[in-house]
Amino acid sequence: MVKTSKISGFYKMSIAERLKIIKEQAELTDDEVSVLSSSGALSLDAADRMIENVIGTTEYPLGVACNFLIDGKEYLIPMALEEPSVVAAASNMAKLARIKGGFFTSATEPIMIGQIQIADVESPYFAKQAIISRKKEIIDLANEQDPMLVKFGGGARDITVRVLDSICGPMVIVHLMVDCRDAMGANAVNTMAEACAPLIEEISGGKALSRIISNLAKFRLARARAVFDKEALGGEEVVDRIIMEYAFSLSDPYRCSTHNKGIMNGIDAVVVATMNDFRAVEAGAHSYAAMNGEYKPLTRWEKNKDGDLCGTIELPIAVGTVGGATSVHPVAKVVRKILDVKTASELSRVMAALGLAQNLAPLKAFATEGIQKGHMKLHAKNIAQMAGAEGEMIDKVVEVLVREKNVRVDRAKEVLSELCG
Ligand code: NAD
Repeated sequence: MVKTSKISGFYKMSIAERLKIIKEQAELTDDEVSVLSSSGALSLDAADRMIENVIGTTEYPLGVACNFLIDGKEYLIPMALEEPSVVAAASNMAKLARIKGGFFTSATEPIMIGQIQIADVESPYFAKQAIISRKKEIIDLANEQDPMLVKFGGGARDITVRVLDSICGPMVIVHLMVDCRDAMGANAVNTMAEACAPLIEEISGGKALSRIISNLAKFRLARARAVFDKEALGGEEVVDRIIMEYAFSLSDPYRCSTHNKGIMNGIDAVVVATMNDFRAVEAGAHSYAAMNGEYKPLTRWEKNKDGDLCGTIELPIAVGTVGGATSVHPVAKVVRKILDVKTASELSRVMAALGLAQNLAPLKAFATEGIQKGHMKLHAKNIAQMAGAEGEMIDKVVEVLVREKNVRVDRAKEVLSELCG
């Protein structure tokens, strides 16, 4: 349908001009154009300042997970996502966790790694030591780049240097450790890495190439734990089955991928609601899961002496309460108020607790009734709408689909036409 995607100066045009072109190219109707440009809370002008080539905004449903008691504090957790059942599942598991006191969390200092790759080094091991001996100078130079971060108690703390064997021969890799406080830190760290690169080139005699933050934020970990009462789960047999399911994930990357996806269902939804960088958090989570050469679950499930289920989670969560789009997007600002978190560290701990709760929901369902029963109704609502149902007709179609256990669009269309007579 698209005639050409080579549009000269698209980025310089106004939103209206861009929309006109896209309308012609994709043969959009006036209604379709107005869907794109009918701005919600995020104005088109604000969106245009956030990314390039803007033609509209899009929206996610925003739900609130309830029942979360974390470190003795009550939390309402806004979640932005399109998948049915996730918010309900989190709320249900958080309710179970309350029986034994809720979730308990901790986080390490918010240290991110900035990587500086130095190639073409004549004597890499000699260069490594030379760089280490100028550590203070490098750290001071890094901190000069961000007085604001330093003022808030953060800044570059340390460096480490490695000689890396690669298909292009040895390279010297410098890691700049930066305490990012309440920022996710990518801009801050990237600026520091770029600023330090010429000095490191001079010391090593090599050429700086990549100068960028690592999303494998292994020093910025969030942890959560909770005990789930065996009776509330359905008995000790259910606890045993859940641990067997976890054993499957532990031994099998195919299952483990979905296990971790379930955790990220919850975490990503808060990352999106707070307008943090979900690609960064995803990359960090999965690379951490594969840290030791094999892809492993981000949670652990065990049984205690009373037969209750003990769950723990540990993963890197690099999110901010300042910086990026977190303080720009109007919905994200309200979301933060609902969350009532004071620091980025607190936010990451809440996310970890949510991830743990989210992980348990399908495990419990598999050990009891399966996941489809719970999913069915919400899924059927989407299917009914796909079939063209509107207003009160949606619930009527859903009722039939769920009763018949046949949640398919073709059947939804038949039911709709039967109901509409
Ligand atoms: P930023 O530069 O917008 O804000 C961070 C700055 O805020 C700090 O450098 C500091 O000067 C200031 N600040 C004020 N109060 C602070 C406090 N209490 N704690 C810490 N800093 C405080 O954003 P950022 O966090 O450096 O970067 C995040 C953005 O970078 C995101 O939008 C992300 O998408 C993007 N990004 C990510 C990657 C990646 O993940 N690989 C790469 C490039 C860019």
